[in-house]
Amino acid sequence: MVSAVDHDTLVGWLTRLKLTAIRDQLDSLLDEAARSDLTMRETVALLCEREIARKDERRIIMALKIAHFPHARDLEGFDFEAQPSIDPQQIRELATARWVAHGDALLLLGPPGVGKSHLAIALGREVIRQNYTVLFTTAQSLVASLVKAHSEGRLEERLAFLAKPKLLIVDELGYLPFDPNAAHLFFQLVSRRYERGAMLITSNRSVGEWGSVFGDPVVATAILDRLLHHSHVITIRGDSYRLREKRRSGLLQKATPTLFA
Ligand code: ADP
Ligand code: MG
Repeated sequence: MVSAVDHDTLVGWLTRLKLTAIRDQLDSLLDEAARSDLTMRETVALLCEREIARKDERRIIMALKIAHFPHARDLEGFDFEAQPSIDPQQIRELATARWVAHGDALLLLGPPGVGKSHLAIALGREVIRQNYTVLFTTAQSLVASLVKAHSEGRLEERLAFLAKPKLLIVDELGYLPFDPNAAHLFFQLVSRRYERGAMLITSNRSVGEWGSVFGDPVVATAILDRLLHHSHVITIRGDSYRLREKRRSGLLQKATPTLFA
């Protein structure tokens, strides 16, 4: 039987059990339970709820750090009306992260400034909320890291590291063409993750142009074969959002031509 436990002892126990939210809010939580006339069961539920909320919050903060997003973007901040080529319902479905659970690929294609990186980061955050691990990188730094690891005899280690997160986001594929060695290393990564981990790739090139991005149509076909097998492809059209904002404010006059228009 527990009797007359003093405050410090109780705090010590809660610390030992790592129930830090309950520990830090103990008095106010007990007051709240008394004020609302909660039963014992409801009180336990209230305590659990607060502890779980704290643990989720911590987990998300940690996972966001590990993901290395270049900046913060979320779906609430995405103006769907400004981008009619995107179906908000499809984005909401992708935000449930079911495609990540299945290890699918998601390609976001379109000209510069239409919100590809914004959506990639925003969806990445939703995927983290659904309790999956995410890593964000650009195609350029990804390939540079593979080439470096290869030359140092650590390719296997690097591929294993990049295969770990449940979702790997590769931003800006196609801004720079790959040399043949880099394309082959990228192929190895895609094969390694194929049907195990999901990939989200953004590109300013249409899939038909990937042959020239990879500098080798055979490697490009092998990569696309795997990526497109279980995939969702969203092609965004229209003008750059940044330029649109400038145009609206009168800084720019005419629409600039775009690759995908
Ligand atoms: P991309 O990766 O396609 O080149 P970005 O995602 O970097 O484009 O978008 C450029 C800038 O415009 C970013 O700051 C982004 O947050 C913003 N942006 C683009 N599209 C939208 C949109 N539909 N709603 C709100 N902000 C947007
Ligand atoms: Mg971008």
